[in-house]
Amino acid sequence: RAKKKGRSETEFFKGEMNQFRIERLQLESYLRHAVVKNEMMIYYQPQYCLHDSRISGFEALIRWNHPLHGIISPREFIPVAEEMGVICEIGKYVLFEACRQLKDWHNKGYDHLSVSVNVSGRQLQNLNFIYEVKEALETAGLQPKYLHLELTETIMIENVQHSLNIMKELKALGVKLSIDDFGTGYSALSYIKDLPIDILKIDQTFIQNLLNNGSNKTDIAIVKAIITMCQVLSVDVVAEGVETPEQMELLKQFGCHHIQGYVISKPVESAAVRCLLEA
Ligand code: C2E
Ligand code: MG
Ligand code: MG
Ligand code: MG
Repeated sequence: RAKKKGRSETEFFKGEMNQFRIERLQLESYLRHAVVKNEMMIYYQPQYCLHDSRISGFEALIRWNHPLHGIISPREFIPVAEEMGVICEIGKYVLFEACRQLKDWHNKGYDHLSVSVNVSGRQLQNLNFIYEVKEALETAGLQPKYLHLELTETIMIENVQHSLNIMKELKALGVKLSIDDFGTGYSALSYIKDLPIDILKIDQTFIQNLLNNGSNKTDIAIVKAIITMCQVLSVDVVAEGVETPEQMELLKQFGCHHIQGYVISKPVESAAVRCLLEA
């Protein structure tokens, strides 16, 4: 356990900060202050509908704009924030801000758009979570169906009964639920049948293996099988990490309607979203 913690903290404190052994409490207040001081920024990555040939929504992806270290990736600080519990405050911020931002886009005439927000396991265990989701929607004046919450397989199976109860409550509110990074966890396929899931996101590792140099028949077969399974279960499928037009074309042939990836756009600041929508 100590080893795991040490590694994530080392990764986090690159460069000059390595010199100081920053205590856990300091780190915690540091991350906590980041929210208060408005250093957390949300980038938005389009999700594109191949069927309608238009952007159908955006995934909200957080970055930390650190005054000394510049932009820090969520892959570096989210695991630390989860360990410390600060993720609940960060997550609440993303939830409220993403809903507010989406309502603004709706008001500008793009009222078909959805927003996807990543939810960590710690947040799902938090007893306030349902209340926060409700409050975020009400504060923004947003219809619940436009909010998509992304959960990973690992989160869902860590505490199946509890997760299932919360997922049912979220569904009762009217929000949509996605499985993120599908295929990387250890969940049994039967869970997909039993959980109230609306959307499944095929992990980018499978997509990036499509039509690459290292591409093989197995990767193609897996992606095809997941898409077919989703069609049978009436679950929308989103392919993540689509980088080339060739991958996009193959996914279209397989009947995958939604894609997300650099082939459409990298995550951008909210100010740049208007350009993407008009393009
Ligand atoms: P994720 O939810 O699976 O998000 C997709 C990640 O893939 C994003 O990385 C995105 O920038 C990247 N990506 C998208 N298209 C492509 C592509 O075509 N090629 C490649 N190579 N990458 C692509 P990002 O923004 O660095 O986020 C990393 C992870 O951090 C997310 O993975 C998510 O698990 C977590 N995360 C981000 N924002 C939040 C948040 O607000 N809350 C929580 N709990 N986790 C978050
Ligand atoms: Mg996600
Ligand atoms: Mg993902
Ligand atoms: Mg992920």
